[in-house]
Amino acid sequence: MSTPILPPTLRELHRVRKHLRELKSEIDLGPRVQKIQEQKLANEKQAHADAHDAIGKLKLKIRDDEGTLKQVNGQLAKFEKQLNDAASPKEFEGKRSEIRQAQEKIAATEELILQQMEDLERKTADLPNADKQWADAQAEFAQSKIDAAERLERLLDDQKLNQTLLAELEAKLPADVKPQYDRLVRSYGPDALAGVDGRICQQCRTTITEQQRSELIGGKFLCCSKCGRGLYPV
Ligand SMILES: [Zn+2]
Repeated sequence: MSTPILPPTLRELHRVRKHLRELKSEIDLGPRVQKIQEQKLANEKQAHADAHDAIGKLKLKIRDDEGTLKQVNGQLAKFEKQLNDAASPKEFEGKRSEIRQAQEKIAATEELILQQMEDLERKTADLPNADKQWADAQAEFAQSKIDAAERLERLLDDQKLNQTLLAELEAKLPADVKPQYDRLVRSYGPDALAGVDGRICQQCRTTITEQQRSELIGGKFLCCSKCGRGLYPV
């Protein structure tokens, strides 16, 4: 008696269908991974633009404050001149108060400008890092696209190969088994079949009889009494 072909055929069919399912989910994952990479690149682009913008804004702010400083210095000179021309002690005191306020404003503005200049220097010194980070991010993105394209090609090749294999295996199914197999695949997809390890259905853990096991090994097509899957001995 020759070795029955049904058990190894079903075993292979189960393996190939599960593998095709994995391939499909990996292929489907591609666009989502791509989207994440694109978002990452957009964030890096924004961070890079922000680093440059911050410097431009700081320069404008310093220029504004320098304008203010010049203006208050002008006022101070005017007040000092007016002080000499004060007609009464009251006017004299009033001018002194204005002079004091102008001097305080000058000191505060000078301090602010100094801090901003230091900040500008720090940010300018850090700019090459920001430029490098942006260049790295672009290179990484370009590489990730190449990798993804290669990966997709590999997955599609594997899928094509296994679809051919699946068709070849299904062609081997006996005519009386094929309709049952087709019905199970329509219901359960890649889980249409289940291995039986010893006497235990790997799908639902139900135990089959010793008689059923012998029949499976002998090449008979049986379905699990509990989960309905087409069985094969592992
Ligand atoms: Zn079962």
